[in-house]
Amino acid sequence: MTVLILGGTAEARALAESLHDDGVPVVSSLAGRVARPRLPVGEVRIGGFGGPSALAAWLEERPITAVVDATHPFAERITASAAAAATAAGIGLMRLQRPGWEAEEGDRWHWVDGLPEAAASIRELGADRVLLTTGRQGLAAFADDDARWFLIRCVDPPEVALPPRHEVLLDRGPYTLAGELELIDAHAIDVVVTKDSGGPLTAAKLQAARRRSLPVVVVRRPPRPEVPTVETVGEAAAWARRQPPG
Ligand code: NAP
Repeated sequence: MTVLILGGTAEARALAESLHDDGVPVVSSLAGRVARPRLPVGEVRIGGFGGPSALAAWLEERPITAVVDATHPFAERITASAAAAATAAGIGLMRLQRPGWEAEEGDRWHWVDGLPEAAASIRELGADRVLLTTGRQGLAAFADDDARWFLIRCVDPPEVALPPRHEVLLDRGPYTLAGELELIDAHAIDVVVTKDSGGPLTAAKLQAARRRSLPVVVVRRPPRPEVPTVETVGEAAAWARRQPPG
C-alpha cells in the first residue's frame, strides 16, 4: 500500500512522518510554489498533475491505495481536483483540514469573502498602515491602493503588481507574540489582514492585534467539495492505516 499525501502544510509533513515511522509507504506531493520548501520525510514529488483527469490517471498508474488531501484551506483547485480524481480512480480520499480561527474576547475582526473585499474593508476602516499576511497570491487586489502603506509579508518575493507604498518582508512562520508585537509597533501598523488559515504557527498576529486593539480583516475560507474530513494528523493517520492494501 502507498498513501498519497497532497501537501504544502505542516500537517501534511507531520502525517508523512507519522506514517513513515509506522512503515507505511507515502508519496508527498507539493505544488512547487515555494523556492525552498520544507520537505517531508519519505518520497516527494513536486509540481502540478495537470488537472483532475491527469491526477486520476497518475493514481491508477501507481500503487496508490489512499489519498489524504492535507493542502492548505485556501488551496481550492487541488482540493476539487483530488475529490474528482479519487472518485474517478475509485480510491479512498480523506481531507485533513485544521479548524479555522475563532475570535476571542476583545477581538475586532471583520470577516470578508475574498481579497478584493479585504481591500475594500481596509478602506472602510480608514486604516493607514496595513500588515498584509495573505501570501503572495492575490496581492493584485491591493495594487491600486495608493492611500495606504503596506507591509507585505510572504515566503517568496511577490511577482504581481503591488501598491505603490509598500515594503516586502520575506519571512515564514512560526511567529511569536513578542515578534509580532515588535513588528506592529515598529511599523505603526493599524490594521492586520489575514486569511482564516487556522492553526498555531501563524496565530500570534491575532494575539498581537488583540493586545494592541487593532482591527483584523479575516478572509473566510472558500467552499469545499463534500468529502470526509478530519481535523488532526492522528485521525488522518489512523484512517490511512485502515485502508485496504489494494
Ligand atoms: P491551488 O490553487 O489549489 O492549486 C493550483 C494548482 O497547483 C492545482 O490545480 C495543481 O495543479 C497544483 N497543486 C496545488 N497543490 C498541489 C500539491 N500539493 N501537489 C501537486 N500539485 C498541486 O493551490 P494554491 O493555493 O496555489 O497552493 C499551492 C500549494 O501551496 C498547495 O499545495 C497548498 O497546500 C500550499 N499552500 C497554499 C496556501 C494558500 O494560501 N493558498 C498557503 C500555504 C500553503 P494541477 O491542476 O496541474 O494538478
